[in-house]
Amino acid sequence: MDIFSHSLYGGAAFGRKNRKSFWTAFFIGMSPDLLSFGVFWTTGILGLHQIPIFRNGHPDPAMFPSYLQSLYNVTHSLFVFLAVFLIVWLIRRKPFWELGAWGLHIIVDIPSHSYQFFPTPFLWPFSNFKVSSISWSDPRIFIPNVIILIIIYSFWFWRWKINKKEKRYEK
Ligand SMILES: [Zn+2]
Repeated sequence: MDIFSHSLYGGAAFGRKNRKSFWTAFFIGMSPDLLSFGVFWTTGILGLHQIPIFRNGHPDPAMFPSYLQSLYNVTHSLFVFLAVFLIVWLIRRKPFWELGAWGLHIIVDIPSHSYQFFPTPFLWPFSNFKVSSISWSDPRIFIPNVIILIIIYSFWFWRWKINKKEKRYEK
């Protein structure tokens, strides 16, 4: 899925406590792509390498360096996510729920990537198994995705309005 949809899903699922929690989950939601493709685009913009051009769909994955695939494996593995989640839980002695936005990112990516362009290595490093689905940029995925996000956020906004009204009456 695209980076902003990931953030919006992460924020809605794991950042409902307060504003700080929302923005934390929002940024964690986009971090698997920021720490892989984000690094690659930044070094490209800085002129350290050529940037592959998106013309007629995705560029050939062979145009991307192998370190990008390595970063993608680490940030898109459910095992790495679970290990980090448990370690953070142990250190803090309580779960850091906003980290769940990372796990959700991987789960949302599995059915929204095809073999043609970075299918999700969710079982890395134990298995190379990947699912080939329809890419998120295809209207069959992208339009329902936007509709789902509008429904989620409209519902959330409506609930927030009602809560605010109720609080005013309680005073
Ligand atoms: Zn991703």
